[in-house]
Amino acid sequence: MFEIEKWHQDNHQQKLNGRYIILEKILPLIKKMNTIFKVEKIGKSELGKDIFSITFGQGEMNILIWTQMHGNESTGTKAVFDLFRFFEKNKSDSEIADKILKKCKITVIPLLNPDGAEKYTRVNANQIDLNRDVIDQNAAESKVLMQTLAKVNPVYCFNIHDQRTIFSAGKENKPATLSFLAPSEDMNRTITDGRKETMKTIVAMNNLLQKFIPGQIGRYSDEFYPTATGDNFQKMGHNTILIESGHYKDDYQRENTRKYTFLALLQGIYSIVQPEEEIDFHSYFDIPNNEKKYLDIIMKNISYDGKKVDIGVLFIEKLKNGKINLIPSIEIIGDLELYNANRVIVDQKKVLKSEKELINWLKNEYIKII
Ligand SMILES: [Zn+2]
Repeated sequence: MFEIEKWHQDNHQQKLNGRYIILEKILPLIKKMNTIFKVEKIGKSELGKDIFSITFGQGEMNILIWTQMHGNESTGTKAVFDLFRFFEKNKSDSEIADKILKKCKITVIPLLNPDGAEKYTRVNANQIDLNRDVIDQNAAESKVLMQTLAKVNPVYCFNIHDQRTIFSAGKENKPATLSFLAPSEDMNRTITDGRKETMKTIVAMNNLLQKFIPGQIGRYSDEFYPTATGDNFQKMGHNTILIESGHYKDDYQRENTRKYTFLALLQGIYSIVQPEEEIDFHSYFDIPNNEKKYLDIIMKNISYDGKKVDIGVLFIEKLKNGKINLIPSIEIIGDLELYNANRVIVDQKKVLKSEKELINWLKNEYIKII
């Protein structure tokens, strides 16, 4: 896989980059896809935008992957287009690609929520969170996903999201660059046979990724959400792996994270076709829990509003003229000894009176990190 990391650096889909990934950007790529891929229009969004699926592989084992069910969570879409390039370029000369193509049939929905993507919102055009709509299916996009699930009848699903910078992993509270979840099927979080298989796939992904990003992988709480997509798909017998792409130091465009998401996906699929016998599902629980102990900026021991405090800042993402701007905002004030951040500023002489003054100072002094 170290060779594949190098391959990714040189060969990833360079036409997709940054955080703002919309249908118009993927359409030219979909139109030019190699003949090993079958492209289908599988439905329309609430505002009438096309939703596509891309299917490849000749095997018996069906796998379903979807990205950007939350419109502003675009890293997975970049990663699946890198995956298409990997299979297109390596179909005959990579053992990994060859094995996967022979054993699997993979269907990818690369942008399930094109309306949300355009507006850079989590929800769809009718303010529906598609990840809480699997029972009611109020959204057109939810119906498209359910119809595809019924048609593909996957053994495994990969449900790919993005998480905010705030999530940390491990003892040192490093950023959770990737987090995983094997969703529960019931309130008791029963470890069913299906969940064990999902956990094993996650263990295989974690084992590989720890070599690239040690201590930067987290595990989501498996509290049961009765209306969540993953929980219900798992309950229906489709083993569903949740991947959350997160922060990597100074990588605000999530271009490093996209590489790790790509590697995670490839390793996940490979472990399904080539199961390593020694994998024990219990190792899933050794992955540290996701915590909220990471911030974009921490200002240590600064005079603010007459007191000496630590101030934690998170960036808010705002779409403006086709670009995502990162706007600093105070998240937490207090003793932040147990927190970590992308940038820690120690300026004991600085005296700031208000949030506005602080934000302006940050913008002037530290604009380069944004
Ligand atoms: Zn999400």
